[in-house]
Amino acid sequence: MSRVVITEFMDEPAVARLRAAHDVLYDPKLVDDAVRLHAEAASADVLIVRNRTQVRGELLASMKRCRVVGRLGVGLDNIDVPGCEARGMRVIPAAGANALSVAEYVIGTAMLLLRGAYQSTADVAAGRWPRPALSNGREVGGRTLGLIGFGSIGQLTARLAQGLGMRVMAYDAMLDADHPAYAASGVSPAGLDALIAQADVISLHVPLVDSTRGLFGAGRIAAMKRGAVLVNTARGGIVDELAVAEALRSGHLGGAALDVFDAEPLAAAPHFTGCPNLVLTPHIAGVTAESNERVSSLIADKVLEALNG
Ligand code: NAD
Repeated sequence: MSRVVITEFMDEPAVARLRAAHDVLYDPKLVDDAVRLHAEAASADVLIVRNRTQVRGELLASMKRCRVVGRLGVGLDNIDVPGCEARGMRVIPAAGANALSVAEYVIGTAMLLLRGAYQSTADVAAGRWPRPALSNGREVGGRTLGLIGFGSIGQLTARLAQGLGMRVMAYDAMLDADHPAYAASGVSPAGLDALIAQADVISLHVPLVDSTRGLFGAGRIAAMKRGAVLVNTARGGIVDELAVAEALRSGHLGGAALDVFDAEPLAAAPHFTGCPNLVLTPHIAGVTAESNERVSSLIADKVLEALNG
């Protein structure tokens, strides 16, 4: 019987399956108590985390028994993967399991932002009825979606967008233009500058790594079409929040949805106060009832497999 320590929320039926075979500590608040977290991680054969537990430095050094780190989601920027591997640990992400949730968030926010819907909430509530100002909303059909990153989420987002009649182009630094994923999906591969210049909606789907940190700053936002919409569900460090706020205020950006931030949870952020047509969500694009079940079930399967193997 192995000791499995789960530091953030996981779907209960998946926890129960692990519990049936192993000694499980499930405490979704463990991530908030550094002293207990270190003590429990030291006794763990398996550590299961989401995105808040920082598996690096002192915590990693304390994980003397650990063989497997399960990540309830994708994006490994909170885990020192080389450090884990050097200590003989396997790092297992829930690849693809929350892709549909993120893709639906991208399409849903893009559609509402193109209509200016988030601009009018306060006005309508206050009885101002801004119908003339919002009567030039735009349809997504016939518009161009530019995807930066064409992995699991990028590819699923492309399919949903095509179903709505959008033309889709994608830039992915790791895929050659003749990669079969493009031909198979009918998505046009593009250079980053060409994509930025042509897209009506830009959505980011790359991991946060050295080469993507700061990828989308003031210069690239300025190069977007006037009135275009930006959606960031990838990671905060990839998009410059201040530049987004300024471009919304100046009217250059037509709208933006930000689900991820430089620092999470986002503290008071006066730069966003009063920004028009802005959706801010607390890192929930990939978290729905369905994806939580899929992600948790996949990680439980893989952990059980790793412990049996
Ligand atoms: P994925 O690994 O399937 O795809 C990532 C793609 O990015 C790959 O095709 C890769 O080739 C490409 N890429 C890597 N470096 C690049 C670069 N420098 N420039 C352009 N492309 C590059 O991952 P995914 O499942 O599609 O997820 C993408 C990211 O979305 C994750 O890393 C994570 O940070 C984020 N995410 C956020 C949420 C949320 O709730 N907000 C949920 C899931 C994932």
